[in-house]
Amino acid sequence: MARKKAAGGQAKRKTSKANGAAKGGKYVYLFGSRTDGNGSMKPLLGGKGANLAEMCRIGLPVPPGFTITTEVCTYYYEHKRTYPPALRPQMEAGLAAIERQTRKKFGDLNNPLLVSVRSGARDSMPGMMDTILNLGLNDQTVEALGRKTSNPRFAWDCYRRFIQMYGDVVLGVQKRAGEDHEPFETVIDGLKHERYHQAIEDTKLTVDDLKELVTRFKALVKERVGREFPTSPWDQLMGAVGAVFGSWMNDRAIVYRRKYNIPTEWGTAVNVQAMVYGNTGEKSGSGVAFTRNPANGVKEFYGEFLINAQGEDVVAGVRTPEPVSELKNHLPKAYQELERIRQTLEKHFRDVQDFEFTIEDGVVYMLQTRNGKRTAMAALKFSVDMFKEKLIDWKTAVMRNPADQFEQLLAPVFDTAEVAKAQAIATGLPAGPGAASGQIYLNADRAVAASEKGQPVLLVRLETSPEDLRGMIAAEGILTARGGVSSHAALVARQMGKVCVCGASALEVDYQARTVSVEGQTFKEGDWMSIDGTSGKVFAGRVKTAPSEIVAGLIHDDASAKKTEKFKNFQQLMKWCDQATRMGVRTNADTPEQASNAIAFGATGIGLTRTEHMFFEGDRIDAMREMILAETLEERKAALAKLLPYQREDFAGIFRALDGYPATIRFLDPPLHEFLPQTEEQQRDLAKKLGVPVSVIQSRVAQLHEFNPMLGFRGCRLGIGYPEISAMQARAVFEAAAIVQKEGIKVRPEIMIPLVGFKKELDLQLEVVHQAAREVQQEQRVKLTYSVGTMIEIPRGALMADEIAQSAEFFSFGTNDLTQTALGMSRDDSGSFLPQYAELEIVKKNPFATIDIAGVGQLVDIAVKRGRTTRKDLKLGICGEHGGDPDSIRFFEQVGLDYVSCSPFRVPVARLAAAQAALVK
Ligand code: PEP
Ligand code: MG
Repeated sequence: MARKKAAGGQAKRKTSKANGAAKGGKYVYLFGSRTDGNGSMKPLLGGKGANLAEMCRIGLPVPPGFTITTEVCTYYYEHKRTYPPALRPQMEAGLAAIERQTRKKFGDLNNPLLVSVRSGARDSMPGMMDTILNLGLNDQTVEALGRKTSNPRFAWDCYRRFIQMYGDVVLGVQKRAGEDHEPFETVIDGLKHERYHQAIEDTKLTVDDLKELVTRFKALVKERVGREFPTSPWDQLMGAVGAVFGSWMNDRAIVYRRKYNIPTEWGTAVNVQAMVYGNTGEKSGSGVAFTRNPANGVKEFYGEFLINAQGEDVVAGVRTPEPVSELKNHLPKAYQELERIRQTLEKHFRDVQDFEFTIEDGVVYMLQTRNGKRTAMAALKFSVDMFKEKLIDWKTAVMRNPADQFEQLLAPVFDTAEVAKAQAIATGLPAGPGAASGQIYLNADRAVAASEKGQPVLLVRLETSPEDLRGMIAAEGILTARGGVSSHAALVARQMGKVCVCGASALEVDYQARTVSVEGQTFKEGDWMSIDGTSGKVFAGRVKTAPSEIVAGLIHDDASAKKTEKFKNFQQLMKWCDQATRMGVRTNADTPEQASNAIAFGATGIGLTRTEHMFFEGDRIDAMREMILAETLEERKAALAKLLPYQREDFAGIFRALDGYPATIRFLDPPLHEFLPQTEEQQRDLAKKLGVPVSVIQSRVAQLHEFNPMLGFRGCRLGIGYPEISAMQARAVFEAAAIVQKEGIKVRPEIMIPLVGFKKELDLQLEVVHQAAREVQQEQRVKLTYSVGTMIEIPRGALMADEIAQSAEFFSFGTNDLTQTALGMSRDDSGSFLPQYAELEIVKKNPFATIDIAGVGQLVDIAVKRGRTTRKDLKLGICGEHGGDPDSIRFFEQVGLDYVSCSPFRVPVARLAAAQAALVK
């Protein structure tokens, strides 16, 4: 809030000079022949408003208009949905400016000015907010517009569009629960079938049809709302402005903001702009284009348009548009002008732009530009290409790759052999790359329900609209029968990194029957389909996938994958990341294979080996159980002796895979009962194997039962209760180190004691570890280099870090347990209430995924400072799940950790996020 006020204040000062001091502040910023704002004023003018101003400044053809600031939105919600008194006179002056430039008048009976009213938040929220076009029409002005343009069909087309949009957005005439179609569309379909007995295109409707639609629309509004459609242009305008501000708090905007962490306080701006018309005939049209291909990153003019259409038609997916390259054949001059604009935009903004244009009688107008949303694959290619073209430097190139999407690059593609066998049933437009297989669902609610049951879901729709957002989030992939590459489905999928094929027109989607028919086959909900969002192909059934080129190149050493552009670009980016990074990236790995995968992805060591994971494999669990069931020290030692060779072998494998990189090995952590069989059948099996009565096992299980095992006998408490367990683990580490060191490989073990809250706990374990080290070095006649440290994962450990650092040579933050214990929220049970916490915005993000900086972050910060006071060179890392989360990584950079550690396949994400965190610091 403070930031926003400051930005507003600055803008106020600057423009009050130009504008004369506006009483009560400046709420309206003009663009056109005079432009008040510029591209840097997004907090105040919203993304759309700021860039409209910027485009005016660089001489691009923009219809004149004005922007009502985001401050008015804030005021609106803080003052019971009312406006500052100064707003209306400023809007009147703004409208007068538009009238002067267009030589038209709002509500005029000869040459009426129509305006569009659009929302524009600071960050674009595609399809989330509402737009109203052709505002200013009523029964009189529609006639005037028809006379003035000698085109009554056009005028009535505008009028029916206006009532439809205004009815929907401002008056709330929308589909009711259970309805699959918009009520206005139902009226249109009804009239088409009545008069033409088929679904003709909208452009084929005659003046008479349109007039009839207007009459029926008005009746629909009256029936649903209980009052007449407003006729005064100013009433219409104020209603529209209120609706845009109102839409900031609608459900889909809230869902979107939550997903993308956009603060509610930002608010939206409103843009009021002179209409230009793409629907005057065959020399007009509307389109959406990208300066480069946002799906795969190729440098080509990409986008689509519709002749004789207004912008909404392109995005709504009602008619399937043509690719923008086709415009050459329809309107060559306009195409040339657009090419020129494409170049100008990239040179000026130095990023790929996504823009909207309208062609009115052959003349091109720009309605919007913004940085284009892109897939991870496109972002990578854009960044490397633009660096080569000298449009950006390498640091900017690093920043241009969204870290939270980066994992998409590692996502599987369809297995080539499997695809060859699969049955292709349709082709659509490739709108979101990658491969997805899932069970089909035709409605968002059912898709969500199926996904909650654990089914992979493919959401199939005729076209999507913002109401489908929840279903799209839940789905593996999205398939639509209508709509182009800038349809809602494509836009949203691209941003979420979802696999998407749209406009697969061969599909017949029947919402009522819940079936999809194609090529004589019918698929019911729950049946499998697969889509390839890179080629646009749709397949029947489930198709197996293969690893991405990056995984194939790095992990499987596949030579042909290494030759691909994607692989090379990835390597280039990682090289830049290394140049920028301060923190290291390690991995959480429990096996040699995991360790080598992570190293192939660029990890520089292991940050956490959970040794207990090694006890679960094969027969080892039996020895482990024997150890737990042992009643005497002797028995326990005998069982441990069986485990020792397994552990030694595992550690040796890990040391070899690391080839000199450090390995942080954590001693046994989980409560012992986790290793014992819980069902009677399993208990009987074990009893048989060990040759003991089942009652022995049952009584030990009962003995070990805990009410709150995560806070019970676990972590270092185990090693303190049974020092022989730690002794065995330490011996295994050192014996393995000795073996591998003798093979000529450098070994750097770092032994880590879990769940330490008291220095004494660590000291007791240190004795055991050092004793084992002394013994092994003597027995093996080697000198080993090792260190011993602790996890900081309970609040006392963080608070007492200065004392603990007297004994610990390193800390690794176990932010999973630290979050659990600091929040008093079970990491295993929080699923039952956290979703509601997110809904109520008690927590902005899941604190087990993204670190709670304000709370848990303080503990980390305190421990860092106190630990380093005692031991200047204390090595600090993090190995909780947050180690692979970009937002958390930014925080770890700020507090000055030495490394983050995450699962092997998150390593590239962490490298990118760590580099970006260092660059913005
Ligand atoms: C932690 O608590 O953050 C941690 C890494 O340990 P574990 O998840 O094994 O408890
Ligand atoms: Mg832990």
